[in-house]
Amino acid sequence: MYCIQCGVRLADSEKQCPLCGTAVFHPQLSRPEGERLYPAESRPAPQVSPWGVLTVLSVLFTLPLIITLLCDFQLHGQITWFGYVAGGVTVAYVSFVLPFWFRRPNPVIFIPAAAAAAALYVLFICLDTGGSWYLSFALPVIGGWTLLVTAAAALLRYVRGGELYIFGGACIAAGGMMLLMEFLIDISFDGRRGFVWSLYPLTVLAVLGCLLLLIAICPPLRESLRRKLFL
Ligand SMILES: [Zn+2]
Repeated sequence: MYCIQCGVRLADSEKQCPLCGTAVFHPQLSRPEGERLYPAESRPAPQVSPWGVLTVLSVLFTLPLIITLLCDFQLHGQITWFGYVAGGVTVAYVSFVLPFWFRRPNPVIFIPAAAAAAALYVLFICLDTGGSWYLSFALPVIGGWTLLVTAAAALLRYVRGGELYIFGGACIAAGGMMLLMEFLIDISFDGRRGFVWSLYPLTVLAVLGCLLLLIAICPPLRESLRRKLFL
């Protein structure tokens, strides 16, 4: 026998579904008093402390640093490429592990922190390779994306019910970032050629963004889409 509301399996003795509470009625079945399939009360899941996992992750991030430092020093008698490994591992740690040391990680703090780590790492690469593209390309690109993603995350966190407007606006702004990136690549690397590739992602993102905004400002359209897509 199965619940007509949620489909969970029921013992013949069950008077109501243990999951959704729907009353059980079967005209051809007498209800024997027997053992229930499920406990009457749901037990809370045991709380697992995140500190152990985070400590293991931190050790896992430290191990490749020690190994590559030893390898680099063993091979060259001095530190050569270790900085690249150290920078990459640090950026990954700041982005994916550091926020979870805090009880309620705030994206408005941790997205700029990860971006700052990435910006420093890219500065190191630029200086080490003797490039001159940091101020004209890397910094504005990282800064632009950081502003966009942080603003979207802040709005999602603090504004309730405006998701469609936020995603729509973010799509259009991301399209604008494509134009900015092509412009910065042009002035930093291979001279002005005008806009060639950035117009394609810009078009797609702008259409997608406008569609989301249209759905957001038109409640009947939103309702019919919600019903058609079972949202
Ligand atoms: Zn049920």
